[in-house]
Amino acid sequence: MEEEKKSLNFLEQIIEEDLANGLPQEKLRFRFPPEPNGYLHIGHAASICLNFGLGLRYNAPVNLRFDDTNPAKEEQEYVDSIKHDVKWLGFEWDKELYSSDYFQQLFDWAVQLIKEGKAYVDNQSSEEMAKQKGTPTELGTNSPNRDRPIEENLALFLQMKNGEFEEGSHVLRAKIDMKHVNMHMRDPIMYRILKKHHHRTGNDWCIYPMYDWTHGESDYIEQISHSICTLEFKSHRDLYDWYVDQVYDTSNLRPKQREFARRNLSYTVMSKRKLLQLVEEGLVSGWDDPRMPTISGLRRRGYTPASIRNFSDTAGISKRDNVTDVALLEHCIKDDLNKTAPRVMAVLDPVKVIITNYPKGEEEFLDANYNDYAEGFGSRAVPFSREIYIEKEDFREEANKKFFRLKLGKEVRLKNAYIIKAESCVKDENGEVTEIHCTYDPNSLSGSGTEASKRKVKGTLHWVSVKHAINAEVRVYDRLFTDEAPDGHKDKDFKDFINPNSLTIIDAFVEPSLKNSKNLDRFQFQRLGYFCVDKDTTSTKLVFNRTVPLRDSWAKMDN
Ligand code: ATP
Ligand code: MG
Repeated sequence: MEEEKKSLNFLEQIIEEDLANGLPQEKLRFRFPPEPNGYLHIGHAASICLNFGLGLRYNAPVNLRFDDTNPAKEEQEYVDSIKHDVKWLGFEWDKELYSSDYFQQLFDWAVQLIKEGKAYVDNQSSEEMAKQKGTPTELGTNSPNRDRPIEENLALFLQMKNGEFEEGSHVLRAKIDMKHVNMHMRDPIMYRILKKHHHRTGNDWCIYPMYDWTHGESDYIEQISHSICTLEFKSHRDLYDWYVDQVYDTSNLRPKQREFARRNLSYTVMSKRKLLQLVEEGLVSGWDDPRMPTISGLRRRGYTPASIRNFSDTAGISKRDNVTDVALLEHCIKDDLNKTAPRVMAVLDPVKVIITNYPKGEEEFLDANYNDYAEGFGSRAVPFSREIYIEKEDFREEANKKFFRLKLGKEVRLKNAYIIKAESCVKDENGEVTEIHCTYDPNSLSGSGTEASKRKVKGTLHWVSVKHAINAEVRVYDRLFTDEAPDGHKDKDFKDFINPNSLTIIDAFVEPSLKNSKNLDRFQFQRLGYFCVDKDTTSTKLVFNRTVPLRDSWAKMDN
């Protein structure tokens, strides 16, 4: 029991307290409220894992609510992608809801507020209203329209609704307190005129409710017990409460807003607005470019849902703004793929090896485990022949004792195959090695049980048979930005820090078992890293994305 308490995060503690104070557990209800104006990113995953995680922990429903009150930026494409991503992450929502479904109710409540003398129509310019708003240290002053008679407010609001006014000419404001210490309480705008087509309500409305008015009331309508949002909304909490209290009926639940720190990640940007710029300006190939911090980008890169959930749990939630090291995310996917990905062989930077004592024209199919260290992976046949490719960097004519790869006069083992010894090499006019001549020990086949097969040699190399290898395009990614905090510079644009070398395209050779791999299949290319099949793959061309290299910068920092 004590153990469990310690592991509760501060939001769970708040919920536990509410339960202890008499809130029935069956009243717990959460929501994830994305605005459909872009694709979800790894920051949203923090909110998704948090809200749906609470749902699972307390066996409570979680709604997926599209916060769609700004028709200028919202599209069905985004709605579809958000639903796909939440499902892919492994979560199930209770109801799929839209703030726009509440437009009529919100309008009716606004009329009620006008009738109660708690809202008024203002037709000043936005500059004038801004001036009257004051500053955090200077009180605001009342609008000359603040005491407009109720009947006139009602008539004007109806005219706004009926499209009789131009955009920007009139707003509906809550009549709270222009001298309130909290600036958000100084007669905030509830409605503005926007003559735009809405992706769901079409042209039914030309006035749209503002975020605060919409959010609290939507939570109330859905009877959300804990409305969890990010820290920038902390100062909106007074207004959230004020709005809810205007319609709150004590026989219902009164939702409460609580805040946690946004997830920020090093070496990337995370606002949809900025991600959209990268897409629109062609700096990436799309929202799902494997270098993007979007869920769709990470999926295409080879990330698994489990790795993202695990990352969210490990990074945890916090009350203060902070930046999570992207190396932790990389560690989480590596950790997952280490347990789940079959091991295969590919050569990214090939040099040819000729095994001079292997019979010409002969080939054999060696049984190779997909994972030597874990059960249940099975095996495949790997063809071996007289000519193979190895990585260029795995051969040196001469090298010191620490070079446990191939060098002249020394032996190495070929993974799943034989021990070979380098006898000589051929070089071009630039001195580059173009061919290595080796001999092999025919009795040394891995797993054959012979004395020679058990012989220990330092160094095992991956390889592919020249005759059987298939071509593949391998896309190797580096960070999209060269700076740890690309949007943290006052005098520079985040795009100034784009890494010009974030994508390297390699023409590689892979073993033939990969021929029929499907989009999103994930593998470890032995000694190289984790790779997954890209959607650009066709029946004649394989394309792989490198998810992460094997080397783990996070683990290293940890030690
Ligand atoms: P952005 O600034 O990237 O556009 P947003 O907050 O406007 O993000 P919404 O679609 O409004 O995006 O967010 C949906 C939910 O996800 C909100 O509850 C929001 O607080 C949460 N969220 C968004 N970004 C993050 C983040 N970086 N970390 C944690 N939660 C986030
Ligand atoms: Mg938003």
